[in-house]
Amino acid sequence: MHVPHNLEEEPFVHSNLSISGTLTTMPELPEVETVARDLQRWVAGATITDATISWDRTIRHPQPPDRFAAEISGATIARVTRRAKTVLLHLADGRVMTVALRMTGALIVAEPGTPEDPYARVVFALEDGRELRYRDVRKFGRIGLWPGGGLRSVGAGSGARSKRIAEGARTYRIGEVFSGHGPEPLLRGFTAERFAERLSRRTAKLKTLLLDQSFIAGVGNIYADEALWRARLHPLQTADTLDARDVRRLHRFIRQVLREGIVNRGASFSDYVGADGEPGANAERLAVYRRTEQPCHRCGNRIERIVVGQRSTHFCPRCQREPVASSAT
Ligand SMILES: [Zn+2]
Repeated sequence: MHVPHNLEEEPFVHSNLSISGTLTTMPELPEVETVARDLQRWVAGATITDATISWDRTIRHPQPPDRFAAEISGATIARVTRRAKTVLLHLADGRVMTVALRMTGALIVAEPGTPEDPYARVVFALEDGRELRYRDVRKFGRIGLWPGGGLRSVGAGSGARSKRIAEGARTYRIGEVFSGHGPEPLLRGFTAERFAERLSRRTAKLKTLLLDQSFIAGVGNIYADEALWRARLHPLQTADTLDARDVRRLHRFIRQVLREGIVNRGASFSDYVGADGEPGANAERLAVYRRTEQPCHRCGNRIERIVVGQRSTHFCPRCQREPVASSAT
């Protein structure tokens, strides 16, 4: 297998492992979708017999973690999907286990006899002798177990509610857990008209808005920069200044960069690995992200890097002109 060569701290690799997840970069929609598709192939139909939790804070719900372990034991994984940047393991009894990978989370399927992993925070023993391991060097990822129901809606995105759910003692259905998230950009219901409607009321800068998970789900730093470059829109332009053609272009290119990202199994900076440790192939296809000072593929001008809302932002100052009226901060 290929060894991911940018693992922080001590790498853990073994020939009996199938790894899907990221190692140092915040995964976005295409990376999480890749993980979900890998897991669908590897563990759909498998039954969890036991869960061993070695870092309590990885468990978000239910509390205490012992209760989570007891409730997940005996569950069969029916299918694996994604909502926003979270992996959803749908259980045969209707419940849903959520895995938010955050920074360095990875899901690993280990064959029997594979040595223990010091960074495995939760280990699910499977009935067939394999283990599904949640590995997370930095420990930002969270796992929850929720009653089913309510996931079908695309999601209007109201923001504050999901925070309450995360902290609350009451048990919420899986649909409520995601009620604060914006629409899924790749669903058919996410039309250019709907996107225009959502944009028209907003005065935020485009980059900030695209990263806002209550506005649109799943887009992060990489794909926001790429979509804005393709649409020839400046990251600091405010949403309400877009004309109808800008909006249609941005809508089309958001979907395009995400779809291409999925086809290429996510971005790779030696830090994203899919099945069998094979890195995603999308990095070399990126036009602006982490290409500061390199020539723009369209006009040859140098790509610039600025910071917007504490996030590094890459764009071509010639192709993506800043509207005169907006301030460059
Ligand atoms: Zn350019």
